[in-house]
Amino acid sequence: MTTEKIPYKIFLTEDELPKAWYNLRADMKNKPAPLLNPQTHAPMTASELEKVFCKELVAQELDDVNPYIPIPDEILNFYRMYRPSPLVRAYCLEKKLQTPAKIYYKFEGQNTSGSHKLNSAIPQAYYAKKQGLKGVTTETGAGQWGTALAMACSYYGLDCRVFMVKGSYEQKPFRREVMRVYGAGVTPSPSDTTAIGRQILAEHPGTTGSLGCAISEAVETAVNNEGYRYVLGSVLNLVMLHQSIVGLESKAAMDKYGIRPDVIIGCAGGGSNLGGLIAPFMGEMLKGQARYEIIAVEPSSCPSLTRGTFAYDYCDTGRVCPLAKMKTLGANFSPGANRAGGLRYHGMSPVLSQLYEDGYMKAVSVPQTKVFEAAEMFARVEGTLPAPESSHAIRIAIDEALKCKETGEEKTILFGLTGTGYFDMYAYEKFHNHQMDDYIPSDEELQKNFALLPKV
Ligand SMILES: *Cc1c(COP(=O)(O)O)cnc(C)c1O
Repeated sequence: MTTEKIPYKIFLTEDELPKAWYNLRADMKNKPAPLLNPQTHAPMTASELEKVFCKELVAQELDDVNPYIPIPDEILNFYRMYRPSPLVRAYCLEKKLQTPAKIYYKFEGQNTSGSHKLNSAIPQAYYAKKQGLKGVTTETGAGQWGTALAMACSYYGLDCRVFMVKGSYEQKPFRREVMRVYGAGVTPSPSDTTAIGRQILAEHPGTTGSLGCAISEAVETAVNNEGYRYVLGSVLNLVMLHQSIVGLESKAAMDKYGIRPDVIIGCAGGGSNLGGLIAPFMGEMLKGQARYEIIAVEPSSCPSLTRGTFAYDYCDTGRVCPLAKMKTLGANFSPGANRAGGLRYHGMSPVLSQLYEDGYMKAVSVPQTKVFEAAEMFARVEGTLPAPESSHAIRIAIDEALKCKETGEEKTILFGLTGTGYFDMYAYEKFHNHQMDDYIPSDEELQKNFALLPKV
C-alpha cells in the first residue's frame, strides 16, 4: 500500500460516498451550550425554534446524542451530481516550496455555487420541502450561501428569497444573476420590505448594509409569511453536521492509501467547513484513539477565536435570533474592509468554540495581504483560483510546509480548499493595486464591544 504512488487526485467511487452524516456532539464530553431565548434567556425549546426553522432541522440542531444521522436518498442523489469531491495531493506546491511535507487539500469548489455551502443548502431545502413549506428566506454576504441555496431550492421546487448585503449586491452583480438563474428573488439589504429594514434605512440612510441586518430582515420575512421558514448557512450545529460529509470523504480517501494527516487546517468564518473537515478526526481524538494537530485560520481583522471572548451573544444585529454561547467579538463588531466576505462574522460555531476552549484545537489569525500572496502562489502552481476565504487555510498550510523544510520533518498536511474565487476579482484587484489594508482591531475596540454583550 505505502509503496504505491499516491495519485494527484484521490476520488472515491459513488458507492463509497458516506451514507450518514457524523454528529461530533455525540462524542463530546462538554457539549456545546444550548441556544437561549433572546428575551427570557431560557433555553430555546423545539416548538419555539420551529416557528423560525424547519422541524427536522430543529431536531438535528438539538440532537447531542446520535453519532450518525442517515442521509436520505433524495439528498444523496443530489450529492452524487457533484460529490465525492476530489482530495488533491499538492505535488506542484510541494515542489515549489521544496518541502519534505506532504500536502493534501479537499477541494469543494467544483460545483456551480463554487463552495462547500451547497452541502448544507441541499438538506435544508429538502427538509423544508418535505415539511410542505412554500419557501425559505435567508441572508447572504459574499453571495456563496445565497447561490448554493438558490440551486438547492430550484432542484426541490421551493421558493427562495435572499436578502443580500447591499454593498455586496452592488459589488458582485454576477453573483446576484446566478441566483436569479436558479429562480431566487434577491433583495438588497437593508430594504423597505421589512420593518427592521425600514428602521435601519431611516436611521442610517445610504448604509451599505451588514450581515447582521440581512439576517434580521430574512427572519422577519419568514415569520410574517405563511409557509416560509428561515435557513442559515453556517454557525449552527445542524450546518456543521451536514458539512461532516467533507471530513468523512477526506478520511475515507486517505484511508484507501494508508495516509494519516499530522496537521489539519481550515479557514474559520462561522466554523462550518472546518467543523465538517475535522469531524471524523476530532471524533477519534475525543475517543482517545488518535491525535491530530488542528488549526483554525481566521483574518486578523475578525479574530473571534484568537481574541474573542467565550460568552452568550446575539447572532444578529436585530437581536431577533436566539443567543448562542460562542467565541465572539460582539454582535456590533465591524471587521473593516476585509475582502473575505465569508469570514466577516463576529461569532463562531458553538461546537468549535467549546472544542477550542477545551484545548482540542489551535487558532491563528493572518493579515489579508499575506493571504492574497499565498492565494496567488497557489493559483500559479496548482492551477485553481482560490476564494479569499479558502486562501487563509492555504497561507497556514504553506507556512507549516516551510517549517518542515527547516526542520526536515515529513509531516502530512491536510487543508480545506473551500471554494473558487471567480467572483472575488474586485478583491484581487485591490491586492494587485496595493490598495488592500491590513486592519487589526485594537484591544480598546474589542473591549468596547464585549461591554455590550447580553448579561446572561
Ligand atoms: C462561507 C465560506 C467560508 C466560511 O464559512 P464557514 O462556515 O466558516 O465554513 C469559507 N470559504 C468559503 C469559500 C465560503 O463560501
